[in-house]
Amino acid sequence: MLKVLLDMLSPAGERARLSVLILHRVHAVQDPMHPDELDAHSFDRQCGWLAQLFNVLPLDEAVERLRAGTLPARALSITFDDGYADAHDVALPILLRHGLSATFFIATGAIDGGCMWNDVVEEAVRRTSRESLDLGGFDVKGLQSCKLGSLELRRVASERIKHALKYLPLEQRQALAHRIAAHAGVQPSSGLMMSSKQLRHLRRAGMQIGAHTVSHPILAGLGAEQARAEVGLSKRQLESVLGEPVQLFAYPNGKWSQDFDAQAVEIVQEQGFDAAFTTEWGSADASTNPYLIPRFTPWDRTRLRFGLRLADNLYRGGTGQPASLLQRLPSQDRRSPWALDV
Ligand SMILES: [Zn+2]
Repeated sequence: MLKVLLDMLSPAGERARLSVLILHRVHAVQDPMHPDELDAHSFDRQCGWLAQLFNVLPLDEAVERLRAGTLPARALSITFDDGYADAHDVALPILLRHGLSATFFIATGAIDGGCMWNDVVEEAVRRTSRESLDLGGFDVKGLQSCKLGSLELRRVASERIKHALKYLPLEQRQALAHRIAAHAGVQPSSGLMMSSKQLRHLRRAGMQIGAHTVSHPILAGLGAEQARAEVGLSKRQLESVLGEPVQLFAYPNGKWSQDFDAQAVEIVQEQGFDAAFTTEWGSADASTNPYLIPRFTPWDRTRLRFGLRLADNLYRGGTGQPASLLQRLPSQDRRSPWALDV
């Protein structure tokens, strides 16, 4: 039944549509601070559904066949953003067990022991022995003192701090994250992101690697020179780690206008990428600009709703059209907590 619906919405050939999933982390066991995020068990279940319902393709092949009008019905590709080590350690064996391919978009500044600013904040709030943080003195809009007496309070505090920092200029954002960690008495993690060795291992295991800038900036806020350096350097660094061309790119944060702009799209093309991916919901067809391919993450916990959510995303088509098949679903179901690119 689900397959029939998906076949109608995503036929083979010239009218084909490509669904691209965006994921970030897969925890080995459920994260008590983020119980809604994927763990090995829930990811394994989702991979089973994907293998049953879709024809999962490597992303470069999918983009090529979308252009050529030769995609199979129910075509889908899986992507992971940022380069978390658990995407290698936990997700890779599960993908291989299900015979699925995925593409990993890497922010190169954090590989080999680095830590992205959002995780510096997250780890500070998670691991501090303090019962509260007094951030009022930091003089940043949205930063105030926060209580940390329970896991829920810590989760809320972490989200609030990240929200306050997210659109500040990159250097200021990174410096503040480290000041908050120092205030919390927490040393940033060095093993959260992948190493070069793990990247090479992913590739040898048949996975694909794409670029995601160096320091995960909001590209829309950067001058042309800095944006070009972020995009171009991440490509060259990955090519040097892997010893082969890197042709796919994902925009950090990924929302058109808010996070990246026409200048960024132009730079990505100019740097020689074949295709680029946003975080706007929707699916692509042959008319989609290959540098603006949307991505989506279903968040449902049953096979039926998971499949219907993907059907709805196909029905919605390209970016910007409102959902319509599933408007009757409860409103709390409308957000995918693990799909947000920080
Ligand atoms: Zn990202």
